[in-house]
Amino acid sequence: MTLIDETSTIPAGGPTLEQVRRVVTDLPGPRSAAILARKADAVAAGVAHSMPVSVVAAGGGVVVDADGNSLIDLGSGIAVTSVGNAHPKVAAAVAAQAAQFTHTCFMVSPYESYVDVAEALNRLTPGDFAKKTALFNSGAEAVENAIKIARKHTGRQAVVAFDHGYHGRTNLTMALTAKSMPYKSGFGPFAPEVYRVPGSYPYRDGLTGAEAAARAITLIEKQIGADNLAAVIIEPIQGEGGFIVPADGFLDAVVAWCRANGVVFIADEVQTGFARTGAMFASEIFGIEPDLITTAKGIAAGLPLAGVTGRAEIMDAAHAGGLGGTYGGNPIACAAALAAIDAFENDGLIERAQQIGAVLTDRLGAIRENDPRLGDIRGHGAMIAVEFVDPETGAPDAALTAAVAKACVTEGVIILTCGTFGNVIRFLPPLSIGDDLLNEGIDVLATALQGA
Ligand SMILES: *Cc1c(COP(=O)(O)O)cnc(C)c1O
Repeated sequence: MTLIDETSTIPAGGPTLEQVRRVVTDLPGPRSAAILARKADAVAAGVAHSMPVSVVAAGGGVVVDADGNSLIDLGSGIAVTSVGNAHPKVAAAVAAQAAQFTHTCFMVSPYESYVDVAEALNRLTPGDFAKKTALFNSGAEAVENAIKIARKHTGRQAVVAFDHGYHGRTNLTMALTAKSMPYKSGFGPFAPEVYRVPGSYPYRDGLTGAEAAARAITLIEKQIGADNLAAVIIEPIQGEGGFIVPADGFLDAVVAWCRANGVVFIADEVQTGFARTGAMFASEIFGIEPDLITTAKGIAAGLPLAGVTGRAEIMDAAHAGGLGGTYGGNPIACAAALAAIDAFENDGLIERAQQIGAVLTDRLGAIRENDPRLGDIRGHGAMIAVEFVDPETGAPDAALTAAVAKACVTEGVIILTCGTFGNVIRFLPPLSIGDDLLNEGIDVLATALQGA
C-alpha cells in the first residue's frame, strides 16, 4: 500500500494531478475511515455521502483521497466542476480576489465583478431581448427568487412544476420537487399554490411532444386556470429525475402556451447550464427562449453562486430592496465565475462536451447491444444516462442500478445514480477529463454489469 505520507506527499490539485485510476486500499482506506468516523459523530445524519472517501485533491478527471486512492470522476460534484477541479485560472482568480476584499454585501457597497457576471449571463443566455440578472448563492435560492419575480410581475400566485422535476431542498423548492424520498419525506407542510402536472418522458409515456404538451396544458387550464398562474418551471432536461429528455415539440408548445396566456416560463438550467449539454444552455437544443433562466452548479467551478436571468421587464418587476441576500454574488464567487465563463467560451468546452457525449453514447450503445437491461440511453453532451430495466417487463431495476454503482465505487470510479425509480446511472464527467480515463471508467462499468 502506498498511503499518502502525512508529512509530505499530499498532491496539489488541478490539471497537473496524475491522471490515473489507482486503488491502493479498500474504500474507505484507514485515513478516510478515521475522518468518516468523526463525520458520523459530528455531522448530522441527514447529510449523507455516496463515496466512502475523504478528499485531499482533485483535478482533470480524478479525485484523490487521504489514503492516496485516485478515483475517476464521472460526477463533477454533481455537474459543478465542469471546467475541471482547481482549474488554474479559477484558483488564481479566487486567490487574487481573496487578497483584495472578501465581502462588502452587494446591497450595501456594489463592485464591478457582480456587474460583469450579470452582463455575461445576459449575453450568454438564449433570447435576443433586453435582459437583467440577479445573483444568489444556490440553485434553490435562484429558483425561489425566480418564482418571487414571476409572482410580482404577473400579480398571480400559482406555479406549475412537473412530474420527475427537481428544484432544490428549501421549503418552496421542496414543494416544486416531485420525489418524496429522500428530498421531502417528513419535512412538510410545503408551500401552497404549487401544482404538478405530467411532462414528457418518451421512454415511458410513448407520447409525442405535442401530445404530452396538450395533456399538461389541458390539466393546467382545467385544474388551475391560466388567469391564476404566475409561472411554469421546468428543467429542459430533467436532472435528478433521471436525465429525462422531453420529446421534440414538448417544450416549445409549453412556451407558446405560456406566452399566449401571460404566464412566465422559467427554465431551471441549474444542472443543464454552462456547456454541460454540448450547448451553453440546454434551452438552445430545443430552440426555446425562456422568460427567466435559473443557473448555479457549473457557473463558478464550485464556488457558491447562482443567478436568475431573464427579460428585463420581468426582472425589474420587484421593488428596490425586494431581491438580494447577504452573500448573493459574493466577490470571490464572482471572480471564480468570470474565470470559469472565460474557460467555457474560449477553451473549446462546448465542443469537448459534445465529444464526451459521443464517446459515452457510442460505448454505452455497444454494451446495450448485448445487454437488454440497459433499457434507455439518453441525454445530450456530457450529461448522459442509462435507465436500467427488467428486460421482460420494462419495470425499473433499482437493485441492479445500486449493485452496479456500488461495484464502480469499489473499483475507484465516482458514479452517480438518479431517477424517480432509482434506476438510472448518470454520467456528468468534468469537461477536463481525458478520453483514456473516460473510457476506463466505462470499462469499469461494463465489468460491473457483467458481474451483476
Ligand atoms: C441541484 C439543482 C437545484 C438546487 O441547487 P442547489 O444549489 O443544490 O440549491 C435546483 N434545480 C436543479 C435543476 C438542480 O439540479
